[in-house]
Amino acid sequence: MFDRADLPEYVQIKDVAPRDGLQAEPKVLSVGDRVRLIDHLTASGVPYIEASSFVSPKWLPQMAAAEEVMARIERKPGVAYVALVPNPRGAERALDAKADELMVFLSASETHNYKNVHMSVSESLGGFHEICAMARGEAVPVTAVIVTAFGCPYEGRVPLHAVLDLAIRLESMGIADITLGDTVGVANPLQVAEMVHGFTLNAPMIRVSLHFHDNRGTALANLVAGVLAGCTRFETALGGIGGSPFSPGAGGNLATEDAVYCLQEMGIKTGIDLDRIMEGTRFLETAIGHPVPSRLYRAGGRMVPTGIPGAVDE
Ligand code: ZN
Repeated sequence: MFDRADLPEYVQIKDVAPRDGLQAEPKVLSVGDRVRLIDHLTASGVPYIEASSFVSPKWLPQMAAAEEVMARIERKPGVAYVALVPNPRGAERALDAKADELMVFLSASETHNYKNVHMSVSESLGGFHEICAMARGEAVPVTAVIVTAFGCPYEGRVPLHAVLDLAIRLESMGIADITLGDTVGVANPLQVAEMVHGFTLNAPMIRVSLHFHDNRGTALANLVAGVLAGCTRFETALGGIGGSPFSPGAGGNLATEDAVYCLQEMGIKTGIDLDRIMEGTRFLETAIGHPVPSRLYRAGGRMVPTGIPGAVDE
């Protein structure tokens, strides 16, 4: 059992659709459409946006011309536009493009890290030193995402202590904002609560964000478990995009509008205007050319638009 007193007043949502989401789409969106997506998110009140990735366009044509995207978006004061950087070259480009924050990534398991970036976890950590030094020079914060933190497709369940050890090593390099990613959608609510409590007890200096995929239908339950355990930072994607490009409609990120709806109905503020953000979902669905997995969008929005406590964000 829980009641309102157990819930926070505010939860911070970072929308990752422009990077994590679009990166998985088979269709490459124009720079103009990528800019429009980010501007939609900004106008809807999203405070934190994963805007692009500064990876070589040879590897990811979906993220080509990241500089142009960053130059053309309408930046709102107080909103952070984050760039994912795979290496020092990417960091240099992101800093030149005035990213507000750099994000690095590594896997909680050796096998996944090697398959993903052809490096051991230690080699990945080694590469972050240079990125951190470059960012420090420009007074730009660096955050990290630990992918497969709840389970790895090659090694199975990842033990809590392994994730904690890795996070503590990142923190010692000056990276205190860390996202724990359930990359393949295998986490369950109890595991999420244990993970959050494990960090609160053993590494209170680390600010944890949670990032869930919905491959097995547990993403929203995991978000609620995370909130109840005391986490107030989550990463979600407009429309729930970001799943396998070969199975549209399944296994994407937890949809931003689904998360905001659930939080709002429980009286938790996000600062995000639900009706407005779903206009963005409509645009996104047209732009990518297939239905998005978002449940709220498919349901046509809220049943009762006003009049019930907690139904209105502001
Ligand atoms: Zn994701």
